[in-house]
Amino acid sequence: MAYFDNNATTMPCEAAVLAARRAMEELWHNPSSVHRPGQAARAAVELARQDLALLIRANARDLILTSSGTESIDLAIRGVLAPSKRRVLVTTPVEHAAVRDLAEHLGRQGVEVRTLPLIPGGRVDVSALAGVIDESVAMVSVQWANNETGLVQPLAEIARAARAAGAVMHSDGVQWVGKETTDVHTAGVDLLSFSAHKFHGVKGCGVLWVRPGVRLSPTTLGTQELGRRGGTEAVPAILAAGAAAREAAAWLASPEGRTRIRAARDLLEERILARIPDAVVNAGGERLWNTSNIGFPGLQAEALLMLLSERGVCASAGAACSSGSLEPSPVLLAMGVPERIAHGSIRLSLSRYTTQREVGECADTLVASVQRLRASGGV
Ligand code: PLP
Repeated sequence: MAYFDNNATTMPCEAAVLAARRAMEELWHNPSSVHRPGQAARAAVELARQDLALLIRANARDLILTSSGTESIDLAIRGVLAPSKRRVLVTTPVEHAAVRDLAEHLGRQGVEVRTLPLIPGGRVDVSALAGVIDESVAMVSVQWANNETGLVQPLAEIARAARAAGAVMHSDGVQWVGKETTDVHTAGVDLLSFSAHKFHGVKGCGVLWVRPGVRLSPTTLGTQELGRRGGTEAVPAILAAGAAAREAAAWLASPEGRTRIRAARDLLEERILARIPDAVVNAGGERLWNTSNIGFPGLQAEALLMLLSERGVCASAGAACSSGSLEPSPVLLAMGVPERIAHGSIRLSLSRYTTQREVGECADTLVASVQRLRASGGV
């Protein structure tokens, strides 16, 4: 299969697989145990924490290891709101469901949820920040990069407005960290969530970075992670995450890798647009080097994804499939993509392992599949 679903999850790199395997075979003891094998597991976890911290230029002691990006986000938002006297959460309509669904849930529990207006294309309208972020706001939570289109948000400007109002700034960095150079000190954020399976780690390790001094209540009580997140550490996933972070940092150290994949992504789009002239790239502004979201007016994304899968290409769309029909992605609609195009939009996401051959296969298969569906009635 040609794999173009890297924003959903990535193939674990070899170093991550070896690290997870070593953890399962040799370091399977409880890192909280005082005996020697337990302490060996503890030491390995702490080394992995350092590698994860280096990826975002942070101090290892400020990282909380969780089970996923979703859990990190949940801990960040609930954990800051709980001890705060302020009852307002500010976010955007283009967040991942991990933020959007939580915001909706908190809204039903009495938290006032405000959404930042967007400019066409989906970026936050920075001229509107002052009208939304005031001194009643406890937290501003805005994604760094969007999972469906790769669109990058003007985080530093939003963080500045949050800080001016005395609000805590969180970012969902799940699609950003590991793909782009990250420095928590210049980003302006107070909390940053990310997830190892998006940068060639394995599933089961998320990270929440918390700036020292930010008040955070735990949502799962226990002694681990200095009392900030209870639960015995998932040592295999954590060691794999550390190994993946090391490899990602090495890959990011020079820009050539990103330039190469960006060029492959652009070529993929060019080849598709050259043969399907009414196709539309849902970009919206500066975006990640690996993500392409393309709309085929009049088509149903689900039918196209199934045909692509039969023909050996893995891709996805930004919405959950329910009762056999794919609702258009609310995120694309919020970005201003017309419904007719949103219905037929799919996401192709590359990784540093994507080859030219796969790009060629993907373009040819996609074009043939769109033509076939259109010939058979445009379903
Ligand atoms: N936030 C974004 C932007 C994502 O793309 C994802 C996963 O797709 C998540 C959060 C959730 O991360 P995880 O799958 O580790 O729970």
